Amino acid sequence: MGSLQKFMRPELGKFAGYAACKSPEVLTEEVRRLGVVKLDANENVYGPSPAVTRALGQLNDVHIYPDSCQTELRKALAQYAGVPSENIVAGSGSDQLIDLLVRMFVSPDDEVITFTPTFAMYKFFTDLAGGKFIAVPRDNDYQVVLDRLPEVVSDRTKLIFIAMPNNPTGTQVPLETVYTLLQTGLPVVVDEAYYEFTGQTLADKLDQYPNLIILRTFSKWAGLAGLRIGYGLFPDEVARKLDAIKDPYCVNAAAVTAARASLNDLDYLMDKVKLIIQERERLFQALQGVYYLKPFPSAANFILCRVEGKNGAEIQSRLEQRGILVRYFNSPNMENSLRFSIGKPHDTDRLLTELLKIGEA
Ligand code: PMP
Repeated sequence: MGSLQKFMRPELGKFAGYAACKSPEVLTEEVRRLGVVKLDANENVYGPSPAVTRALGQLNDVHIYPDSCQTELRKALAQYAGVPSENIVAGSGSDQLIDLLVRMFVSPDDEVITFTPTFAMYKFFTDLAGGKFIAVPRDNDYQVVLDRLPEVVSDRTKLIFIAMPNNPTGTQVPLETVYTLLQTGLPVVVDEAYYEFTGQTLADKLDQYPNLIILRTFSKWAGLAGLRIGYGLFPDEVARKLDAIKDPYCVNAAAVTAARASLNDLDYLMDKVKLIIQERERLFQALQGVYYLKPFPSAANFILCRVEGKNGAEIQSRLEQRGILVRYFNSPNMENSLRFSIGKPHDTDRLLTELLKIGEA
């Protein structure tokens, strides 16, 4: 044991990895019998469009490698996003595109700026690449504060990440904030993972800002988290370099088929998005009435709450025993907090019933 440790990159010694959400598979039989409500990973509780299930059922040709350029999918995405297909690159989840962008721009000791709390994979991939992660804290309402920007940007800064809206806080970012970041001339990655829940995008600004990079995913609005498919809208030279450095078959045939079928069934999926938004508003109102929770307004498919006067980790595990999975955070600027992904109406009811019981205890 441990004999190969000395060959590993020393900087990985401190690398803690990502605390992924729990799969229902690892829950006890007793809890699974209650029926698991998975509200911990911002997935889409309505699942994919039935057109996806049909298309996957008819999927042939899995014995040949998929098109390494995702030609047909990118044509469909060009229509959907209003950006030429040459400026679109797909990846195995937008996570993979974050990884590739960091590898493209960040050498060891180069700096990556973002506004925390935010999506943990920006730090994960920066650390993995040996880069330096510069976290600019958001204010008490989780808005981005740019006052310190001039002092944090250095000649080693290679990337800025901003999630619009932000995960895990749900905070929407004013477009003005992004324009200010773009004016630095640095590569700015605007992560639009939750775009379909807001309609706010910078896709039409790609021509105007040569340093703008946009990431999107099929995991949230289209219910394809398990298939791992994301894409980005990139300036020409970034798209070409991504094509060059990404592994050719990273996007599998099932993912491409499912993504194309989703784009052909937008009405169905956007109806579900509307239901999720309605349910988010209902949950937000109800959470405001739970005395030990302070919910933050959200533009995405989840709501973050600060827990006051109780232990959020204990609440998380109590909910888990009742079959409800939620996410717990306890980090600087996001102490003792719970994030609830939006479920179907009866999931909300179940969650609220348990939260109220916890309040009585
Ligand atoms: N960006 C943000 C802001 C996210 O919240 C997520 C998923 N939680 C991702 C990117 C990654 O999505 P994907 O499933 O496409 O890797």
